Amino acid sequence: MTHAPNSPEARDIAHHLHAYTDARRHQEVGPLVVERGEGIYVHDIHGRRYIEAMAGLWSVGVGFSEERLVEAAARQMRQLPFYHTFGHKSHGPVIDLAEKLVSIAPVPMSKVFFTNSGSEANDTVMKLLRYRSNALGEPQRKKFISRMRAYHGVTLASASLTGLPNNHRSFDLPIEGVHHTMSPHHWREAMPGESEEAFATRCAEELEALILREGPETIAAFFGEPVMGAGGVVIPPATYWEKIRAVLAKYGILLVADEVICGFGRTGTMWGSTTYAMKPNVVVCSKQLSSSYLPISALMIDETVFEPIADESNRIGTLGHGFTAGGHPVAAAVALENLAIIEERDLVAHVRTVGAHMQKRLRALADHPLVGEVRGVGLIAAVEMVTDKAAKKALDPAGKLGAMIAGILQEKGVVGRAMGDALAFCPPMIITEAQVDAMVDILEASLDEARRRLAV
Ligand code: PMP
Repeated sequence: MTHAPNSPEARDIAHHLHAYTDARRHQEVGPLVVERGEGIYVHDIHGRRYIEAMAGLWSVGVGFSEERLVEAAARQMRQLPFYHTFGHKSHGPVIDLAEKLVSIAPVPMSKVFFTNSGSEANDTVMKLLRYRSNALGEPQRKKFISRMRAYHGVTLASASLTGLPNNHRSFDLPIEGVHHTMSPHHWREAMPGESEEAFATRCAEELEALILREGPETIAAFFGEPVMGAGGVVIPPATYWEKIRAVLAKYGILLVADEVICGFGRTGTMWGSTTYAMKPNVVVCSKQLSSSYLPISALMIDETVFEPIADESNRIGTLGHGFTAGGHPVAAAVALENLAIIEERDLVAHVRTVGAHMQKRLRALADHPLVGEVRGVGLIAAVEMVTDKAAKKALDPAGKLGAMIAGILQEKGVVGRAMGDALAFCPPMIITEAQVDAMVDILEASLDEARRRLAV
């Protein structure tokens, strides 16, 4: 594709190294330059409108044109555009938001620590749990377990928790002390005829074997997304979390729920931890916390985590951790307004209704020759593409079919995201049933178009 000299596309190619992009290919194809947003739609600079079927990056819960968030930001900017929380300093928005998060937490929580991204939040959890182990006189308890296909971020530590090959390859990751157990992906990993319950038992047994191999006393925590997002929207099989939780409890290992995608209604309750009765000791959240209008993330810790940390900081004289913009007043004010909107409009109940409709519409595509599986909960789903249903295989190399169909979708006016050969759907929570219908109709047309192109 050629772009006019000096066009935004040409200037982007000239100066911008993109996240999660093939930098060489980008020189040929350039970017989709988005100019404005409105409800569930975004518009590009050429006047084309797209349904944003991923809510940006699983994040714009209240849609792309919520004036109340703009107003909340402007108000706070005028009053106090920045302050920090180091050295006993605080401000109204961060106090209100900490109190609010504790009041709606899925299980009783003690304190909230603020960060700017999901990666920083998970990184912070790893550091705080190391600190806690030292405080408890258990210096050997420093290992972490996460899962294959997990996504917990991209810093050296959080990328190590992530269980996706492209986050490790050529970055020399994972770092020492991070171990991965099997992913709970029933469609992909279960043995022929293995029920969800039997598969969940096998997942828990594999976790227990890993714990015993490493030494239970060396393991600080298990990290898990209630529903895995970037790994392909992996829905936990029936009984999975109760079995995992039982293994962790048996060995005194903490559970960290990474609610960065699931938090604030996505699965049909306020928290994925509630949908799946996870009972975590630490909850990490971001994205729909502010509908990503501004960067903010948070981690909530329970008393068993807070108390030793408090003692250790007292012994040392400070908790030597914190980000300049952590708990930024403008981001916190936007998050508070965003949570108020979610509650006032009962968007969580709306997700249950409109989500059920989306799941029904998507599941109706299961018989399409290019669809291997449709899975989802609430308002998050994946359609797994295949060219051979029985063998559960897509085109070679893996990801080619997914990228092709995502490309067709975009040509037809839907921005989706292919993760390998799974197409994810995670639209803004304000989406209506009619808009779901429009989105799924375009998906269906795209599948048919792909079938024509592939002549299958
Ligand atoms: N955890 C989960 C579950 C995520 O989905 C993401 C981002 N997609 C992250 C952590 C990392 O968040 P960030 O990109 O803000 O660092």
